[in-house]
Amino acid sequence: MIEVKEWIFERERMVKEQIIARGIKDNRVIEAMKKVPRHLFVDKTYYHQAYNDYPLPIGHDQTISQPYMVAAMTEILELKGNEKVLEIGTGSGYQTAILALLCSKVYSIDRISELTRKARLKVDNLGFKNINLIVGDGSLGWPDYAPYTGILVTAGAPEIPNTLIEQLDENGRLVIPVGNEFSQILNLVKKHKGRIYRKEFFGCTFVPLIGKSGWHK
Ligand code: SAH
Repeated sequence: MIEVKEWIFERERMVKEQIIARGIKDNRVIEAMKKVPRHLFVDKTYYHQAYNDYPLPIGHDQTISQPYMVAAMTEILELKGNEKVLEIGTGSGYQTAILALLCSKVYSIDRISELTRKARLKVDNLGFKNINLIVGDGSLGWPDYAPYTGILVTAGAPEIPNTLIEQLDENGRLVIPVGNEFSQILNLVKKHKGRIYRKEFFGCTFVPLIGKSGWHK
């Protein structure tokens, strides 16, 4: 990724006050959050709010997640650097960029083509070479490149889709918010020796995952 110096002071402060202060410990995640220029993933009118402690609108009733949420979900994936990761809900592409700095290849899906188009422009301009974006129903995963070491869903699901568990590699980790359309609990699903383990983390609020294995609209 090319280095972006603009808003660097705000970015460092965001990491110190929102990410480290709240207990994120994975140094690789912390460094990635310091590097990726979050302001470039929102419209110019939001640049001055881009490093604040909340989600922001990205159009089409969707949002770029709160910085802390991005860091926390990424930390739970425990990426070491050589993984293949699937993200469902590209949105702005910000989380995609964070993942791309931490693993070898990211596949990311969104159902809204306009968001995918904009996200592609952004990650291309930043020089990313390990990001693959498509438009489609991510609640069904992306079977073509399965299995994945990590799967991250950035929209709220009514339940954990079996299709996603199937696309998880041995020792793979799936992170997904599960609940109703207004609030969810962040879940981790692990696959180990063919067995499935589930752990619940904290409460969160995501826009709904809309699709065959999500909410029907
Ligand atoms: N990680 C993104 C979050 C965007 S909000 C960011 O921080 O910018 C969630 C996104 O999930 C939206 O862009 C929405 O269009 C997308 N989404 C919802 N249901 C989906 C589905 N079934 N498949 C793919 N994307 C979906």
